[in-house]
Amino acid sequence: MASNTIRHNRENCIGCSACAGVAPDFWEMGADGKSDLVGGTEREDGSVEKEIEDKDLAANMEAARSCPVNVIHVFKGSDKLI
Ligand code: SF4
Repeated sequence: MASNTIRHNRENCIGCSACAGVAPDFWEMGADGKSDLVGGTEREDGSVEKEIEDKDLAANMEAARSCPVNVIHVFKGSDKLI
């Protein structure tokens, strides 16, 4: 089964807190005013990634849809869901 990955382009986050509002188990607001993907790992390009289980896809898809600047993306394997 393909793994699910969330990717956050944190650099371009505008700190609206929508993601933290809809999926607080995964997203929280950081001290610098941008959101943090809880338990995420920073990649070389500066984005932050985290693998999630199928049961957590819906909440994170909702977080991605809520983002006004589209800096949250969800992948199933190499397929970009949003
Ligand atoms: S919804 Fe998007 S812009 Fe708003 S805090 Fe979350 S990642 Fe940042």
